[in-house]
Amino acid sequence: MRHPNVPESRPPLEETVALLEKAQEVAHIGSWVAELDGSDRLGWSRETHRIFGVASGEFVATSEAFFTFVHEDDRDAVRAASRAAITEGHPYDVEHRIVRPDGTVRWVHEQADIARDPQGRALRMVGVVQDITDRRQLEDQFRQAQKMEAIGRLAGGIAHDLNNALTAIAGYAELALGGIPVNHPARADVEEIKHGAERAASVTAQLLAFSRKQLIAPRIFDLNDTVTSIARLLSRLLGANIEVRTALAASLPPITGDPGQVEQAIINLAVNARDAMPDGGRLDLITSLDDLDEAFARAHLPIAPGRYVALRVADTGHGMSRETLARIFEPFFTTKDVGKGTGLGLSMVYGTLKQIGGFVFVDSVLDRGTTFRLYFPPATGQPAESAPTPRSGTDESRRGQETILVAEDESAVRNFVASALRNEGYQLLLTGSAEEAVRAVTAHDGPIDLLLTDAIMPGKSGIELANAMVAERPGLPVIIMSGYTKETLTVSGLTDPVNLLRKPFSPTELRRRIRTALDRRA
Ligand code: ADP
Ligand code: MG
Repeated sequence: MRHPNVPESRPPLEETVALLEKAQEVAHIGSWVAELDGSDRLGWSRETHRIFGVASGEFVATSEAFFTFVHEDDRDAVRAASRAAITEGHPYDVEHRIVRPDGTVRWVHEQADIARDPQGRALRMVGVVQDITDRRQLEDQFRQAQKMEAIGRLAGGIAHDLNNALTAIAGYAELALGGIPVNHPARADVEEIKHGAERAASVTAQLLAFSRKQLIAPRIFDLNDTVTSIARLLSRLLGANIEVRTALAASLPPITGDPGQVEQAIINLAVNARDAMPDGGRLDLITSLDDLDEAFARAHLPIAPGRYVALRVADTGHGMSRETLARIFEPFFTTKDVGKGTGLGLSMVYGTLKQIGGFVFVDSVLDRGTTFRLYFPPATGQPAESAPTPRSGTDESRRGQETILVAEDESAVRNFVASALRNEGYQLLLTGSAEEAVRAVTAHDGPIDLLLTDAIMPGKSGIELANAMVAERPGLPVIIMSGYTKETLTVSGLTDPVNLLRKPFSPTELRRRIRTALDRRA
């Protein structure tokens, strides 16, 4: 007999069950009921069977059988949670691993309620199980990325400070050697100090390289191929209301790098573009071979003039404010809601380009769109580093009378530079920051003949200082001191290796490099 309140149109039971099963399948959430009457009976839905990797016919579900699926390392915890839920009324809410009959390990999230009789005795446990393996994997990757970043920063920071100390130790040791007679007994000791400092410096050099480097599998490849294959994927990834267009250069010189990383970089840019175009729009991927001239390079520091393989990724999205633009490459900088943005997408793009000696720039106009420009050095380019060759005729011991502006925040290094140059005849303006250097220049009447600056200082960087000074005094020789590796420096603006003085350096090297830079100007 039909209940009077049930409308005619109510779907039959089978249909309801089918709908429920479909919903479970879509959500990857299965349901289960465990009888607590001592029978050990356990009822699994179809999706629960799927999650555990067994067909419904070939498995008789019991609570004991369930525990054999639970990963052995998690079994005690799951048992305890279940016991606590039944006897103490704790909520049953656990994440644990299961091992399917075929050996694959999956992560599941289980939640359950206990049905009780009026006396409070537990009758059955009614629960759901969700396969959360994909989410766990993403979380692991994210944690890994965070860890690498933290390690990189820590290693880089320690190595950087240590390097400054070593510059002073090795430098002063060499200065001292200059004053110790050849057969003086202290000579050997000081030589040992110098060698010890040099050995330590080779360790810091490796640490610096690591902190700026990911492991990559570099190959020589054609950017057009990468863009073509990724564009196909992007049209699907970005959805129907975003039009993906490509415009490829007729032919491009190959580039060096990890193609997988470059693909990932393009995907990161495309995903950002999608987020910036919630109502749809257009994404253009344009490759070209660009000859960048001096004027361009000056306006786009730190890039050096020359020929680059270029990729433009342009969207018609909401663009960015200046404040946002200034910070987008910082790890963990995001303007998106918690859970939506990690702030790591563009850091990865930046790191990838940086590592292969490339550059990334961005132009954005609010409400109009954003264009990222990626420049890759052609694989057939010049060798990455050419050691500075002292010009013939450059006499190390030649005395100078020029004025040298020194900017270095580390006082040990600053004092060492002063000692190394003390008897060379130069006039020194010693400053501890870019800001101080600017003030010293204003206060000084007379020319500045050379700028010797640390690359990275608190406040304005040495690179900014150099740019500002060269803008006012075209042709001013600049030497930048840095502990960072070649790869880093390429991106920090010091693309001309001749202008780079790698820390630690010896007084002799310092004098020679200064003399060379001054003579080259003449
Ligand atoms: P996430 O996307 O996780 O926030 P990203 O490093 O990829 O991290 O990007 C950092 C921020 O840069 C974004 O939160 C967003 O504010 C801004 N951004 C990046 N790409 C675009 C774009 N194409 N249009 C507008 N804003 C963008
Ligand atoms: Mg992003």
